[in-house]
Amino acid sequence: MESIKFILNFNIKKESEDLGIPIWQAPSLLFIFMGVFIVIVMLIVYFLTKFDDSPEFLVLSECAVVIMILSVGNMIISNIEKMAEVNKMKSEFVTIASHQLKTPIAQINWELEILLSNYKKGLDKKQLDIIRTISQSKETMARLVNDLLDVAKIDQGKLVLNRDRVNMTEIIDSVVKNNEVLAKASNVEISVIKPEVIPEIFGDKKRIEVVTDNLVSNAVKYIRKKGFVEIKVESDEKNIVVTIKDNGMGIPDRQQGKVFQKFFRSDNAALCHTDGTGLGLYISKNIIEKSGGKMWFKSIEGLGSEFFFSLPKNG
Ligand code: ADP
Repeated sequence: MESIKFILNFNIKKESEDLGIPIWQAPSLLFIFMGVFIVIVMLIVYFLTKFDDSPEFLVLSECAVVIMILSVGNMIISNIEKMAEVNKMKSEFVTIASHQLKTPIAQINWELEILLSNYKKGLDKKQLDIIRTISQSKETMARLVNDLLDVAKIDQGKLVLNRDRVNMTEIIDSVVKNNEVLAKASNVEISVIKPEVIPEIFGDKKRIEVVTDNLVSNAVKYIRKKGFVEIKVESDEKNIVVTIKDNGMGIPDRQQGKVFQKFFRSDNAALCHTDGTGLGLYISKNIIEKSGGKMWFKSIEGLGSEFFFSLPKNG
């Protein structure tokens, strides 16, 4: 099975393009070189020992082979190290750039507040509309910056979660409230099915709310016209399981393997919602897994999706 996967994924040109390195530095190509090289050297040694099979000659030729293998191996390792270094620098760059962006965003926020509190009366409808658009763009930018910071933290293994008492009923109530306006505007009905009492769990309350909100807002957002979103909470012996089901556009079969990857956006979603970042599910899955839970989904294009996450009761 693994070997079939390897053959299917075997595309050296794509690998070098994905990694941003020349084709001759692609690790897969270097491995092939090393294999071919070892076979050739072995054959040479085999034929040479036919003429001279003294132990000295054997030892010397074995040493030569080992030195050559070590040299090619070293080249492969240093390439991989270089790539790891570039990856680390990229992650650090994202952190620094995002932090730097926070200051001007806060400044815009501040200026907008001053403008609205001091000069609102003197502004006409058109001017107020422009200010509202600026404010929405600022919100989008602030969310993107926060998401990028979270992604960098996840990639650097620095995501820290609090450990609070989490009341899922409170979280769901607040998420439903947050999404009410958008749902109403999109003709979407949100319903909740939950037991009378949801067992209390431990985890990062804010982050679990972000995850739930992300799944519910996606469900609302990716319904084309009219539809429903159902939030269900169940609990078994060990876990509580939250399901968010919608009858929206669904995710094409061929793209389902990539859903939790960074920056993933399905073709059908990207066509009607150009503003997504493809970071929400990546961040959400990492938060849930770091909290000791699991996240998964089922989806049928054109019929809808179900996203699930579980969290341990005594986590
Ligand atoms: P964003 O919504 O900003 O694009 P996400 O990471 O939250 O980023 O989602 C990634 C992609 O997964 C979306 O762009 C969309 O293609 C797909 N997706 C997520 N949730 C749903 C859903 N409920 N229905 C259909 N597609 C979805």
